[in-house]
Amino acid sequence: MNSLNLHLSHLNYNYSQIQKQLNSETQIVAVVKAGAYGSASEAVAKRLEALGVDYLAVAYAEEGEVLRSYGIKIPIMVFYPQLDSLKTIIEKALEPCLYSRSLLMAFKGLLKDTNKTKYPIHIKYNTGLYRVGFSPEDTDWVISQAASNQFNLKSVYSHLAASEDQRPSQSCDQQIRLFEAIKKAHSAQNSLIPKFHLLNSSGVFNYPELQYDMVRCGIAFHGFANHPKWDALLKPIAVLESRITQIHEVKKGSYVGYDHGWKAPVDSIIATLPLGHADGIGRHFGHHKGSVFIHGEEAPIVGNVCMDMLMIDVTNIKCKPQDTVCFFGTTYNTAASFSKQGQSISYEILSGLGPRIKRVINK
Ligand SMILES: *Cc1c(COP(=O)(O)O)cnc(C)c1O
Repeated sequence: MNSLNLHLSHLNYNYSQIQKQLNSETQIVAVVKAGAYGSASEAVAKRLEALGVDYLAVAYAEEGEVLRSYGIKIPIMVFYPQLDSLKTIIEKALEPCLYSRSLLMAFKGLLKDTNKTKYPIHIKYNTGLYRVGFSPEDTDWVISQAASNQFNLKSVYSHLAASEDQRPSQSCDQQIRLFEAIKKAHSAQNSLIPKFHLLNSSGVFNYPELQYDMVRCGIAFHGFANHPKWDALLKPIAVLESRITQIHEVKKGSYVGYDHGWKAPVDSIIATLPLGHADGIGRHFGHHKGSVFIHGEEAPIVGNVCMDMLMIDVTNIKCKPQDTVCFFGTTYNTAASFSKQGQSISYEILSGLGPRIKRVINK
């Protein structure tokens, strides 16, 4: 019915394209949160581990636990650990990114309780995104805590709010200045100097000179870096295909879909596809915003997207039930271009693809 075909060989390609932007010593953190951006986390994580990335990273501890259950052995960073999952972090040998005084103290307490010392941690600073992170004003406090025997401070990082913005960017420059000051303070006072990192995928392409010791790439492994110029250097790994369920002839003036969302302006032919908003194709793709391809020809989505299905106008396209329909592929109609039609972004569309879509692995 529906399939998300994943070309794992493109992961290899994208990995080498990322490496080409970097010095050979720069470490790479491959971000596989949200089921590896909606793809197939087991196959993708295993391939990335085999390719030799230095770290995997997830958002939450539970995601790291799942990776360990697949037999992943390399270090796993947890970007957004929550108070109630700190135990899991220790049990599964995950590395937390600590971002507040209360979280740090809670984790330290738990390490004491379990007689752990020199536990690998990472520290996240907020330099302008205001999502999570210590304030730059906390730097001295963090440095004094990091010296504790409980911790082994592996890295210190921050996250740019608009790494894809055209340069020069005032807001990026301000974040960079703050991060430089934090780096200087940590380098001066930690006996073991941690690694520093700032860049995500688009940062790697836009600010390669800020690669420091490590970079954190997620979407670039999937073929996108938030600008057509950089996207052209990468290969999308995911192809979303479906098949026509039924075809209707619709007389001029008839309505199609819920709430009579579309009125046929002429005698028309409508095809129904077995994908809907429950599968991640949101309602904002309805009403001719989004389109799909059948035998290379473009067909717009008409009316409202239903929960399980949607309708497309195939009046001028020769097709029949069971014919293959492509939502996005690896060349002209990528997930990035499809997303744009619905005022979305590749991240949202890929990570939102529902569990009813079969993941098919192509080695
Ligand atoms: C998701 C995430 C990344 C990866 O971002 P991409 O744009 O997908 O490369 C990097 N760092 C942090 C902290 C993240 O949450």
